[in-house]
Amino acid sequence: MTETPEGVYALTVAELRHYTDRLFFFRTERPDAFRFRSGEFVMIGLPPEVMEAAGGKAKTIWRAYSIASPAWEEHVDFYSIKVPDGPLTSVLAGIATGDTVWMRKKPTGTLVHDALVPGKRLFLLCTGTGIAPFASIIRDPETYEKFEKVYVIHTCRENAELQYGFDLVEEIANHEILSEIVGDKLVHWASCTREAPDTARGVHAGRMTDAMRSGALYEELGIGPLNPETCRVMICGSMDMLQDCKQLCEAGGLVEGSNAQPGQFVIERAFVG
Ligand SMILES: Cc1cc2nc3c(=O)[nH]c(=O)nc-3n(C[C@H](O)[C@H](O)[C@H](O)COP(=O)(O)OP(=O)(O)OC[C@H]3O[C@@H](n4cnc5c(N)ncnc54)[C@H](O)[C@@H]3O)c2cc1C
Repeated sequence: MTETPEGVYALTVAELRHYTDRLFFFRTERPDAFRFRSGEFVMIGLPPEVMEAAGGKAKTIWRAYSIASPAWEEHVDFYSIKVPDGPLTSVLAGIATGDTVWMRKKPTGTLVHDALVPGKRLFLLCTGTGIAPFASIIRDPETYEKFEKVYVIHTCRENAELQYGFDLVEEIANHEILSEIVGDKLVHWASCTREAPDTARGVHAGRMTDAMRSGALYEELGIGPLNPETCRVMICGSMDMLQDCKQLCEAGGLVEGSNAQPGQFVIERAFVG
């Protein structure tokens, strides 16, 4: 086995769950010294010999991944796409418990509390694997200290792709300490675009951005539209979705923030492409 490079942790895969043929979850042990802020991302890859054994070059391919577990957890969670010809995920999708995943030690990102000025309502807008950083944020007690209400708004193509979000909400409801902290502050709104929604589970039809433009989303949530006094927004999804959501935030009078200059909404790409 190749020696772990400087600045990299070798993590052992402890748990795996394949949600669909496009999506899977994996959990690794957490190195004692590893610190990050909920919502940040890291670079992950596989040791060269694993890439070579899978038919590729003996070279690590690094990709950005949001950490899907909160900063206080003893493990590190990831929620991943499987791109059939994807240089990393075509191999990563085949990992098993006990296998090694490499993670660069330095986390970074803008989907963090530090990049937002105080507010009352926090909207977490995401498509596909863009829910990963919010899996971290919604399980961080700080989120509920800072906001009165937290809305996870998740759109996917198919019902089955929304399951991870439902599992997270259920996990929080069943968690001894988190359920007390979260109470009724967390609201989960899910929709799918490419098949009939599972209405029995409360799934809606169509894109979140259409429901925001028409006002149907706010009406259902029993609140007014986005406004700079009370609303803060974190956005994570495809380029198109980011553009649409950014436009909706700006139309509502919200100003984009960053770590250096906190604002009323923040953005991160869920992938490049
Ligand atoms: C800041 C940041 C955070 C990210 N966090 C995550 C994460 O938590 N989970 C995750 O699965 N990916 C995440 N990604 C994407 C990730 O870095 C890789 O692109 C992805 O793992 C695929 O790697 P690959 O080498 O197999 O294919 P790549 O060569 O990286 O991608 C091939 C093509 O697949 C598509 N694609 C890539 N990633 C996705 C995706 N997540 N959803 C839909 N289509 C995609 C794009 O069209 C892309 O051009 C993140 C990207 C960025 C920039």
